[in-house]
Amino acid sequence: MSREDERNRLPATGRVAFVTYLAAVSIPGVTLAGLLIGRVVLTDSGLLAGSVAFWMALALVGAGEARPLFLPGLADPVGVATSATFSYAALLHLGLPVAILLHVSGVLAAAMVRRPAWWRTVFNVAQYSISLAAAWATLTLAGYHASLPHPASPRGGDIPVIALAGVAYFLVNNVLVSSAVSLFSQRSLLATMRADFGYHAGVNTALLAVAPLVAVVMDQAAVLLPLFVLPLVAIHKHAEVSVAREHEALHDALTGLPNRVQLLERTETTLGRDINRPAALFLLDLDRFKEVNDTLGHPAGDEVLQIVAVRLRASLRPGDVVARLGGDEFAVLLPEVADRDTAVELAHRLRAALDEPIQVAGTFVTADASIGIALAPEHGSTFELLHQRADVAMYLAKAGRGVEVYSAERDTNSPQRLGLLTELRGALERDEIEVHFQPKVRLADARVVGAEALVRWRHPDRGMVPPDEFVPLAEQSGLMPRLTDRVLAYTTEQAAGWWASGHPLVVAVNVSIRDLLDPGFLARVDAALGRSQLPAEALILEITERVLISDYARGLDVLESLRRLGVGLSLDDFGTGYSSLTMLRRLPVSEIKIDRSFTARVLDSPEDESIVRSIAELAHALGLTVVAEGVEDAPVRERVARLGCDLVQGWLTGRPVRGTELAAVLAAQAPACPRAGVDAPGG
Ligand code: C2E
Ligand code: MG
Ligand code: MG
Repeated sequence: MSREDERNRLPATGRVAFVTYLAAVSIPGVTLAGLLIGRVVLTDSGLLAGSVAFWMALALVGAGEARPLFLPGLADPVGVATSATFSYAALLHLGLPVAILLHVSGVLAAAMVRRPAWWRTVFNVAQYSISLAAAWATLTLAGYHASLPHPASPRGGDIPVIALAGVAYFLVNNVLVSSAVSLFSQRSLLATMRADFGYHAGVNTALLAVAPLVAVVMDQAAVLLPLFVLPLVAIHKHAEVSVAREHEALHDALTGLPNRVQLLERTETTLGRDINRPAALFLLDLDRFKEVNDTLGHPAGDEVLQIVAVRLRASLRPGDVVARLGGDEFAVLLPEVADRDTAVELAHRLRAALDEPIQVAGTFVTADASIGIALAPEHGSTFELLHQRADVAMYLAKAGRGVEVYSAERDTNSPQRLGLLTELRGALERDEIEVHFQPKVRLADARVVGAEALVRWRHPDRGMVPPDEFVPLAEQSGLMPRLTDRVLAYTTEQAAGWWASGHPLVVAVNVSIRDLLDPGFLARVDAALGRSQLPAEALILEITERVLISDYARGLDVLESLRRLGVGLSLDDFGTGYSSLTMLRRLPVSEIKIDRSFTARVLDSPEDESIVRSIAELAHALGLTVVAEGVEDAPVRERVARLGCDLVQGWLTGRPVRGTELAAVLAAQAPACPRAGVDAPGG
């Protein structure tokens, strides 16, 4: 959709009110114009035809509209301005019907050049006719009369009433337009009028102030009218420059979206109303955008950003604001949002809108985005605070599932989190960190062939803290390598014990992007294996798809080195990220774990069932082992087995337990033939 189409699109919400308003103004306005123009043409056409002043003014209006000053993004382009001077002068000299005739000609000429939607043209005709009628009523009440049969010429004493009528014209016109804009954009009438009031008042004063002079010249020497062209052009140029400057100050040059300054203003206005009315601020950051720039060049990157801007705009309601903050960072302000769930749903919709491939530089790219949400008044009631909190949420979204709402517990900057972080540091020293193991069971023979190490924090006051609450904290604070080292050391040591007692389990350790990008990681994995004398095949590292977002190339390098070391790699939570099937082929993984969200619905949703089946088929074709995560009951286990999964992991076959407890489970199971779990985990 072009920007012009966008401007002409009727709003989806509040459409009834908007259309009703348009009709309520257009019908009487156009009727008035029709009646008056009809009358002047029928009764006074002879006089009109003989009026040099009229023809000169008409020619000047036409010339002005043929080369309108076109200012992008402006609701009411300045091109119409020439008409204002001449129609107001005609009102003073020849009366209302001629003034309306002139102005309508101007509007129609402008419509032929700019081709706006028909309802805009009709509304403009009505709006100007009503405004001129208001000015005429003011003049008439004050005793100033002009008509085609009895032309008038302003005198010094008329100036106050002419000024007053000018004010009436401007105010009526402004209220009519602002009401439409306010209904269209769902902003309050006052806020809409305030937004451009100074600018419009300035331009209108300049244009209308010349009108009495024009009227005098119309009366005395109409052939001199073209001399007014120069000062009017000067007024236009000035208006154009100032509007362009204002536009520049408030918009992003590349996408035309509001910029940070305007977002701040709009957010403060939103927050300035009833503080208890909920609003939301999203921060949206494109994933892997740097790659697009690096591989396809900056012009392609720019094009992607422009398309992203259009898609975001099209997915929002008229009152919502989407801004570009710079680089690949966008923001969305929702001045009206029912609740948190609605905000989250919308965020997912925005991500879906960006999901469709974008064709640039002869190839397709996808613009995946991570979105952080802060809600007002819950998370803050200033722009500063909301922005900061949406940023924290966005960071978590990048590491997680793409959309996150701010939560103080997960904010490293919040006092609670800073406290927790200090405690976590201490916990690593005091040995409060534990590792539990969840069995991975082979479907073919129901044997435990592996176990996933899941970290736990036994907090002295808070009890067992789940990893979701402190792993992100460790990631953001630089504690991650120490935490992972602890898990690795503990896990390899346990595994060595199981191997020694005849249970060659493949143990899985979760690693984060922080670990992968840490230059010493490979050596540390090697060292942990060395210390425990465990073969590299006994270890499998689980990475989530999102791990690779921030630095794909470096991440891939490390994965390949790990693979060369002999360590297995597993793609965790498969299906929740965006990884494409091509990516699966390029990654040196040996296993994929289908996320719990698919497994859980496999019985109820035919779609999820076919997703699981297709993933399994594809993975097998690529020689990978398939694990179904989160299997909680037997019917699900039977189904995933039939769909082709090799292993299951979940509460049905075992909750995460301490190493000693798992050892008891293993002991109850008949001893394995040596290394069965390693050589044939897939059965
Ligand atoms: P994950 O790697 O996908 O681990 C599986 C999660 O699903 C575990 O949650 C596990 O307890 C849970 N789960 C297993 N079976 C079932 C089931 O049948 N039903 C349900 N509802 N849940 C089940 P947990 O232990 O809370 O771990 C959450 C996440 O924290 C893990 O997801 C992993 O991403 C991360 N994590 C855990 N330990 C570590 C670690 O040592 N290092 C890193 N980097 N991340 C870790
Ligand atoms: Mg895992
Ligand atoms: Mg998982």
